[in-house]
Amino acid sequence: MTERAWPAEFRSHVREFIHTALPPALAGVTGFAERARAYRAALHRAGLAGLGIPAEFGGQGLGEAEERIFAEESAGSVPGEDRVFQVGARLVVPSLIGRGAHDLAREFGPGLLSGEMICCQLFSEPEAGSDLAGVRTRAARTKDGDWLVTGQKVWTSYAQYAGLGLLLARTDPEAPKHQGLSMFLVDMDAPGVEVRPLRQMSGDCEFNEVFFDEVRVPADRLVGRPGEGWPAAVAVLGHERVGVSRGDDSSPRRPIPYERLLELARHGGRDSDPAVRERLLDAFLGQRTAALVSRRIAARTLAGAEPGPETSVGKLLRTANGLHAARLASDVALGAGATWAGDDTLAADAAFWVLDAPGMAMGGGTDEIQRNTIGERMLGLPREHSVERGVPFRDLVRTREGQQ
Ligand SMILES: Cc1cc2nc3c(=O)[nH]c(=O)nc-3n(C[C@H](O)[C@H](O)[C@H](O)COP(=O)(O)OP(=O)(O)OC[C@H]3O[C@@H](n4cnc5c(N)ncnc54)[C@H](O)[C@@H]3O)c2cc1C
Repeated sequence: MTERAWPAEFRSHVREFIHTALPPALAGVTGFAERARAYRAALHRAGLAGLGIPAEFGGQGLGEAEERIFAEESAGSVPGEDRVFQVGARLVVPSLIGRGAHDLAREFGPGLLSGEMICCQLFSEPEAGSDLAGVRTRAARTKDGDWLVTGQKVWTSYAQYAGLGLLLARTDPEAPKHQGLSMFLVDMDAPGVEVRPLRQMSGDCEFNEVFFDEVRVPADRLVGRPGEGWPAAVAVLGHERVGVSRGDDSSPRRPIPYERLLELARHGGRDSDPAVRERLLDAFLGQRTAALVSRRIAARTLAGAEPGPETSVGKLLRTANGLHAARLASDVALGAGATWAGDDTLAADAAFWVLDAPGMAMGGGTDEIQRNTIGERMLGLPREHSVERGVPFRDLVRTREGQQ
């Protein structure tokens, strides 16, 4: 096959998958996790799972051009349930490869990409969200080299379906905050792991609290070396922002697409209202700009670079678009206030989006934290003042607890 023929051939393969192979694979499959698994399995059978991931880790070893063709051809057809696989496929596998944890990437990559295994991200804690380096979940080394994990995580998306979790834990409380952290892959069905679901105001049940009570983690599940958890977490969050920036069908926290907004405006008879048209234009331009920024970010990461602070720009744009789109959708679909006819599914969707959209400004790091990152790492503004640098984490905890 010539290089010239390849993009066209790849495009027709994707079309064939979307229009011919996928509909029967999803027919009659109901249930969130079941649909997610059915889609991933079909994607894998078609040789389309993990497009940019090298073959030795279970992917297809392709590039940015194929990612883009897939996004174009599959727009509107990928079931949103596939987002349950995004942590594994888009965050964990590339981060393991990028951090040089190739044995773990070889062991878990194929299952995470093909849909055999779901992975969750065990970072945030009740006292460590924006201040992620403040995690207190403790991993203590045993005599035989394994680790015993005790602590609590929160806001863990899809932990209720996960077989694996990427955990950030404190391994050295004597070291300064950012230096005493390590990263692990943990079995979610190990004795001592308890997952408790949380319900959001949108009615969704995405989040969980996860408790660890002396959970044994084998020595070979450490990602990198002890104390390397912070740079590993920064890399994972960079990949998360790449995913949010992309904003395609299965991206976590995706703005309502422009085409859907137009449909809503037509449905509500508002598509010739000049004020609505102006807001529709803003939505179109915002989404187009975000797509172009995302393309530049993706080209950089697929060229082998770890995602950098530019991903914060992509995430901020998507969040702004998401909030704009949710407000516009609610104004045109819920014109008479927060009520709608029982059979009006478009209005019911709009109500869900309005309640769901604020989460976009938090998940993967809040808007304020993205702005801090852009200010400090891109614009060269002075760093936030810190009294914590160089102080052992144990002493910081004591100070905080003493103040309470
Ligand atoms: C949809 C969604 C999915 C999520 N999924 C996961 C997941 O799977 N795994 C996981 O580990 N976590 C997950 N999270 C948690 C998410 O990472 C945290 O909510 C986020 O990092 C903020 O932390 P927090 O909620 O503790 O807020 P806080 O850190 O307490 O922040 C409260 C407010 O203070 C502001 N603030 C804090 N520090 C600063 C500062 N230095 N400068 C300026 N303003 C500041 C924040 O911007 C925010 O407005 C998810 C969250 C959401 C909404």
